[in-house]
Amino acid sequence: MINDAHCHFFSSRFLELLAPDAGGGEKLAARLQWDPPGTATELGDRWIGELDRHGVSRAALIASIPGDAVSVAEAVAHHPHRFVGFFMHNPVSPDSDAVLARSLTEYQMAAICLFPAMHGYRLDEECVERVFRAAADRGAAVFVHCGVLTVGVRKKLGLPNRFDLRLGDPLALARAALGFPQVPVIVPHFGAGFFRETLMAADQCPTIHLDTSSSNNWIRFDGGQNLEGVFRSALAIAGPSRLLFGTDSSFFPRGWQTGIYEEQQRIMGSLGVSVADRNAIFGGNFERLFPG
Ligand SMILES: [Zn+2]
Repeated sequence: MINDAHCHFFSSRFLELLAPDAGGGEKLAARLQWDPPGTATELGDRWIGELDRHGVSRAALIASIPGDAVSVAEAVAHHPHRFVGFFMHNPVSPDSDAVLARSLTEYQMAAICLFPAMHGYRLDEECVERVFRAAADRGAAVFVHCGVLTVGVRKKLGLPNRFDLRLGDPLALARAALGFPQVPVIVPHFGAGFFRETLMAADQCPTIHLDTSSSNNWIRFDGGQNLEGVFRSALAIAGPSRLLFGTDSSFFPRGWQTGIYEEQQRIMGSLGVSVADRNAIFGGNFERLFPG
């Protein structure tokens, strides 16, 4: 069983919110050389076809800009056993509490995604504590993007990316997470450059999980490191039950990123990871956090 813990749902509404003056989602999709996303229902159906083609059972779909949980909710409503809703949230927005409540109840989102470097707050601030409290109350997970942050679509459209990378500090996250032992925490891309800090945080805090997604290009900042070494250390410290396979797949026609899956399976082989541990990493852990 393969479950993908990290896919972006680039809906028409996502495009409209990203660049409100660009003349609509369809025009923007053409500029990006993407297939037009259509309605959220159509895009969800396309994802199902894509997952079926690759033998992927379930996927987390991330609403990738604040205000787009509604699109992911629509896709999840049609395929509740295949999709798990994640949503980008800005906890320093004035209506944060109301948005959290609506997203977790009405929209049934299963994980709140924080991008502190993008929205400009520290992970040990009170606003993050409120996020954790909402997650604890509603049985949701918290996903926190730490480390380097590059948003391909923003880059491609020439949108400003004045991110403060200092704010994506896994050590500050560990402190927040320790206060809410019932809330699963996911750090994508092994901490995206703060690998050592992510391992320290995971070692200190048993609720911290690492997702393996993307090309993990951050490795170039980690002198001499390769993905095999990253997996070896992550397995030694976080252990197989806290690694979640993900691809970071996003737009069509590119679709699901088979290459990421194949490379990570190859690494499992070369590290001699047991079948049971592989099953946990590629599907079982996701199932445990987000029962279908
Ligand atoms: Zn991503």
